[in-house]
Amino acid sequence: MQNHLEILKRASKFIVCPYCSKHYCLEDISIRNISGGQLVLQAICSRGHSPIITLFVTRMGNINIKSEKISPIVPDEVIVMHQNLKKFKGNFRQLFKND
Ligand SMILES: [Zn+2]
Repeated sequence: MQNHLEILKRASKFIVCPYCSKHYCLEDISIRNISGGQLVLQAICSRGHSPIITLFVTRMGNINIKSEKISPIVPDEVIVMHQNLKKFKGNFRQLFKND
């Protein structure tokens, strides 16, 4: 079983901001949902770029995070996401395109 800190450390090595390619710090990443070995992570770039939501899959199966509290998304976070999406001038299809 993995705890969420180990998973977030591993995720921070792989996940980068799609705008500036900066690796996220542990403080930038939060767990939004867990299902089996899959986590939905939210990452917010410290350089002010739009937040991302990503699916992170572990190879270790179920994740033990019962001792850790996962906070629900609060209205202010939704408002910040909305504001960032409104400012976004890029192309999501291009951004998530597999090369
Ligand atoms: Zn960035």
